[in-house]
Amino acid sequence: MSWQDKYKPVIGLETHAELKTASKMFCGCVNDPFGAKQPNSHTCPVCLGMPGGLPVPNKKAIEWTLKIGLATDCEVNLFSKFDRKHYFYPDLAKGYQISQYDLPFCYGGKLETSQGIIGIRRVHLEEDTAKLLHKKIDGKDVSLIDFNRSGVPLVEIVTEPDIRNGAQAKEYGKKMRQLLRYLDVADCDMEQGGMRLEANISLRKKGTKELPSYKVEIKNINSFRFMEQAIDYELERQAKILDSGETPQQETRGWDATKNQTFSQRSKEEAEDYRYFPEPDIPPIRFTEDQVEKIKSALPETPQQVAGRWEKDYELTAAQAAQLSTVESESELAWLDSILKLLNQQKLDIQLFANDLINKKLSVTQKLTPEEVVKRFESLHATEEIDGGELAGLIQEVLKNNQDAVEKYQAGEQQVLGFLMGQVLGKIDKKLDPKQVRNALQTALED
Ligand code: ADP
Ligand code: MG
Ligand code: ZN
Repeated sequence: MSWQDKYKPVIGLETHAELKTASKMFCGCVNDPFGAKQPNSHTCPVCLGMPGGLPVPNKKAIEWTLKIGLATDCEVNLFSKFDRKHYFYPDLAKGYQISQYDLPFCYGGKLETSQGIIGIRRVHLEEDTAKLLHKKIDGKDVSLIDFNRSGVPLVEIVTEPDIRNGAQAKEYGKKMRQLLRYLDVADCDMEQGGMRLEANISLRKKGTKELPSYKVEIKNINSFRFMEQAIDYELERQAKILDSGETPQQETRGWDATKNQTFSQRSKEEAEDYRYFPEPDIPPIRFTEDQVEKIKSALPETPQQVAGRWEKDYELTAAQAAQLSTVESESELAWLDSILKLLNQQKLDIQLFANDLINKKLSVTQKLTPEEVVKRFESLHATEEIDGGELAGLIQEVLKNNQDAVEKYQAGEQQVLGFLMGQVLGKIDKKLDPKQVRNALQTALED
C-alpha cells in the first residue's frame, strides 16, 4: 500500500512578486533594484528606515493590486488599511514591514489549473526589504546591505490549501507568472528574486475533513522545477513520519538543490508574534464601487477567457487552445486572435494551423502581420499540380522497384502504404498534394 492510498496532500502557496511601478511603494525613489548602477543609490530617509520618515502610498501599486485581484475573480475590500508587521532583521531597518493584515485589498478569488480550481485566499500589498550580501573583504566575512530594493512594492498572493501535488503547484505558479506579466504589472524574474514562492505542505488522513494540525513551510524557492521537486520530496518524508505514528514537526524548511532534499531551517511557532497593528502614518483606504468597476472593465480579456472563446468559436481542443494562448503579453494574444479570425474568414484549417504552431512546423513572430502569417501558413501547405498520367507513371515505376512492399500490402500490411508514398514523393521535385498521391497509389495497388 503506497502512501497515496492512505493520505491526501494539502498544499497552499504564497507568491511574492515585485511590481514594476516607476517609483517605490512609500517614497519617490526609483524602483529599479536590478538595474541600479550602484548599491544604495535609489534611497531616501523613508526607504532607509530613518526615524521620522513618513510613508506616502503609491497609488499605481494599489490599483495594480486590485487589477491582479480582479483578474483572479477576487472581491475587493472597499475599506482596507496597511499594518505594521514587526520583526528584527538587518534587512529591515525600521524594525517593521508595512504590510496588510486583516483587511487585504482583495480576497476570495480563484485560478484554474488542468487539475482543478485553486482558491485564492487573499491578495495584499507590502514593501520589499533591503538585500543582504555576504562577502569576504580583506579576509574578513562581512554582510553588506543594499537598500535599492527596500520599499519596492511587493504583492503577495495566497492560495487556499487546495493544491494536490507538485505538478499542480508548478502549473499554478506558471499560470500566475504569465498572468502578472500579461497584466503588465510585474516582470517576475525568478532568478533575480522578482518572484518568490513558498509552499505550505501537510498530509491529511483519507476520509478526514479537517486540515492537519501541522504544516511545513518551504521558503525561498526560486524555480518552478525546484518547487515541484521539493513538494514531492516533502510529501514522501511526511508520509514516512505519519506511518511511524508520529506527527511531522511544524517548521520552516529549505530546499537543497544539490542534495535534492529539504532541510530544517527553524521550527515555526503556532502563530508567530509579529505584533501587527494598523500603520498610524497612513490613513485607511476606501474605494467606491465605481472605482472598482472602472478597474474591472479596463481589464484585458485573460488568456484563459480567450482560450475558452477559441475552443467554442474555432473548435480547438482545450489543450490546443490552452497551449496557443500561453503568451506573456496582451499584444501577442490580440495578434494571435486576429490571425485565427482571418483563417476562419478564409475557411482555412485552424486546427492544422494550431498544430503547426505547437509542433513548431510554422515559426512566426509578431513582426509579421496576421495577413503575412496566413500567407506563410498557406505556402507551407501549398501543393503543386501534377498531370494524372505523369503521376500514374511514377507510381508504376515505384511499384515495379518495390515488389516486396507491394506483396506485403496485398497481404494486408496497410502500413507499407506510407513507405510507398515516400518513394513516390521522393521521385519528383514538386510538392504534391498527399491526398491525391495516396488515392492514386491505392487505386494502382488494388488493380
Ligand atoms: P501562516 O500564518 O503560517 O502564514 P496561513 O494560515 O496564513 O499561515 O496560511 C498560509 C498558507 O498555508 C496558505 O496558502 C494556506 O492555504 C496554507 N495552509 C494552511 N493550512 C495548511 C495545511 N494544514 N497544510 C498545508 N497548507 C496549509
Ligand atoms: Mg506564511
Ligand atoms: Zn526612498
